[in-house]
Amino acid sequence: MKYNHILIRYAELSLKGKNRKVFEKKLQTNVREALNSFENVKVKRSFGRMFVELNGHNEIDITARLKDVFGIYSFSPALKVELDQEKINDAALWAVKDAISSKGTFKMTVKRPNKDYPYRSQELNRTIGAHILKNTDHLSVDVHNPNVEVKVEIRQEAAYVMCKTIKGAGGLPVGTSGKVLLMLSGGIDSPVAGYLALKRGVDLEAVHFHSPPFTNERAKQKVEDLARVLTKYGSSIKLHIVPFTEAQKAIHQQVPDNYEMTIMRRFMLRIAEKTAEKNDAISLVNGESLGQVASQTLESMHTINEVTNMPVLRPLITMDKEEVVDIAKRIGTYELSILPFEDCCTIFLPPQTKTKPKREKANDYEKNLDIGYFVDRAVEGIETIEITSDTDIDQEFEELF
Ligand code: ATP
Ligand code: MG
Repeated sequence: MKYNHILIRYAELSLKGKNRKVFEKKLQTNVREALNSFENVKVKRSFGRMFVELNGHNEIDITARLKDVFGIYSFSPALKVELDQEKINDAALWAVKDAISSKGTFKMTVKRPNKDYPYRSQELNRTIGAHILKNTDHLSVDVHNPNVEVKVEIRQEAAYVMCKTIKGAGGLPVGTSGKVLLMLSGGIDSPVAGYLALKRGVDLEAVHFHSPPFTNERAKQKVEDLARVLTKYGSSIKLHIVPFTEAQKAIHQQVPDNYEMTIMRRFMLRIAEKTAEKNDAISLVNGESLGQVASQTLESMHTINEVTNMPVLRPLITMDKEEVVDIAKRIGTYELSILPFEDCCTIFLPPQTKTKPKREKANDYEKNLDIGYFVDRAVEGIETIEITSDTDIDQEFEELF
């Protein structure tokens, strides 16, 4: 015998009432997309569950991909068998032996959504459990703390037998929460912010501010590669590269040192808002964490945020750096983020930045700048790149050096 299916359980979809269908369909599309490199694999839905038909593929390769799909609560490799008690017994025996080869304990958990099946769940627990005990000499039952839980679902079309439950990525299916624009720097934080936004089901595009010749091609390449890692958790990502040199130079010349960072952030936000509007995104996302640096105090955010009415999501706002680093390592962005290329925020970095900048002062200093001109010029100069998961990052990096 061999596992022939994967049974998928949804996360949080019970919350969604009548939208449930939409969410399930979207999740089905996303699962299909995640598995599109596996030929002949089929993804089907049926009454609150999704099933991947393996058609000969190894379940380990497929489960590795499913782990990154948002909207999945958990999943299990499953043996699909006819509604025939003997076949169900044998499948359970095979699965538990496959899971435990030396001495161990198990517990039966039968669910019977198909009420036409002639035996009740309790009876089935006993019958299947007895069959396993009779045909093995290394297994015993432990209902409190078993090594393996043998799950059987008796459904309308068939029975599914499972011995392993793998935790899914949780969250909501990508593409069910509206579109956001992620402000993506080359740092550790913003890719994690993007990942967490994707977790809550958004469609995501990204904007990156770049200031040639002060920031170079490699810095841009790094951001493309970070965006490519994020495609693993959603789909392809449009990356908008903003030419920011002209605005930054003007700010540097016109604004006192201690307000330079504040004004620069206000410009970034204005440009990001316009870019979002042009691309039908209805919210911005950034990687700010309260108090992490001078531009991320409450006072700074209050003054910077004045220039936009768009919601600015800050998924990392309550996190310590260490927590962010842990996630970055887990999702595969950390190693790229720590590569040492200049970010536009660090060039012309003034010696001291105001930690409590005032709105009145910021507005005052901006009077000397033609805001509309710089914002429009930046938006018009945007280069948009479609980032897909196709290119191998390691290979690209090797080519770079
Ligand atoms: P990271 O750069 O990953 O966010 P950080 O702690 O260096 O880490 P800051 O440089 O203070 O963060 O920037 C705060 C946020 O502003 C970033 O998380 C990002 O969302 C946005 N940001 C900063 N620089 C850029 C940039 N060059 N392009 C786009 N967004 C940027
Ligand atoms: Mg940064």
